[in-house]
Amino acid sequence: MSHRIFNFAAGPSAMPLPVLEEAAREMTNWKGRGLSILEMSHRSKDFVGIYRETVDMLKELYGISDDYEVMFLQGGGHLQFAMVPLNFIASGTANYAVNGVWSKKAFLEAQKLGKAQIAAQTENRAPTDDELNLSPDASYFYYCSNETVNGIRYPAIPTVGVKLISDMSSDFLSQSVPVDRFALIFAGAQKNFGPAGLTVVIARKELLGRTSDKTPTMLDYETYAKSESMYNTPPTFAIYMSNLVCHWLLKEGGIAEMQKRSIAKSSLLYKTIDESDGFYTNCVQKDCRSRMNVVFNLKNEALNEIFLDGAKSRNIGNIKGHRIVGGMRASIYNAVSMEAVEALADYMKKFAEDHA
Ligand SMILES: *Cc1c(COP(=O)(O)O)cnc(C)c1O
Repeated sequence: MSHRIFNFAAGPSAMPLPVLEEAAREMTNWKGRGLSILEMSHRSKDFVGIYRETVDMLKELYGISDDYEVMFLQGGGHLQFAMVPLNFIASGTANYAVNGVWSKKAFLEAQKLGKAQIAAQTENRAPTDDELNLSPDASYFYYCSNETVNGIRYPAIPTVGVKLISDMSSDFLSQSVPVDRFALIFAGAQKNFGPAGLTVVIARKELLGRTSDKTPTMLDYETYAKSESMYNTPPTFAIYMSNLVCHWLLKEGGIAEMQKRSIAKSSLLYKTIDESDGFYTNCVQKDCRSRMNVVFNLKNEALNEIFLDGAKSRNIGNIKGHRIVGGMRASIYNAVSMEAVEALADYMKKFAEDHA
């Protein structure tokens, strides 16, 4: 496996190598059953076992109580942008904090389904509680805990008097979260949990099942809650891979350990940026800098391509910024090792010296 790159992809993104190796070992013959997971019925005892174990491990990792339903859906974060308002905008109004690409998209989608209102709009940081302009009749308040494209995280969970809903796609399983403060959390798996094609939804049970009769079956959370996410055929292979990721996380020390590592990894990169004498810049307010997606620009943008080529020659891949914002972005999810981050930091220092 010596030819594997240091992969800083934003999503789909790096997976833990032991997980990939185990999946490869089990690919053609899962646990001696004579068939692959890919060939197995989702209703089989073996697969239902994998499914339930994955739910249990997620509950263990986050400390999720039985008041919550853990569901596995498809359609990515984007479908959640529609399902959240469709299921919860009962009063007709909801408040959205907009501080990056993903919360903006969620807000625009919700506007189609009800009276979505912007509670706060900020550029290079998360809004503070004081800034939130909340409607008294809002059904919920929505925010994105980590803006993947813009590299912005909420330093604290907003305190609001209404149901709290958050898109945690890109910081899922990277830090401890008091789940009981939330009505609903969702996360596309392909950032920090598993392969693309799987979306996790964690929702307070008592809030489900209040949709109108006109809600399409597959867009009603209740459908998934009632059927162990198996009303239709779930993305079995993606669930299996995420199962292996959960095992890996537990073995590595769980969320507390991931949080520690992500602080160490992101700190090293921000330190490299801040000590570069302006060669590299990051414009996010310091206490809101993402620990998952470190965005930065080269002061001299004419060097961008040379920087990317040099990275490639050092086995460093996928650090080009999102097409909307340009520049660079290093996504340092749980599966990205400190060794990879050190390789990037060393390269950044060397490149800055060579081109000063
Ligand atoms: C990637 C991402 C999305 C979109 O996910 P899809 O699976 O492509 O729909 C939504 N929100 C956040 C925070 C993301 O990082």
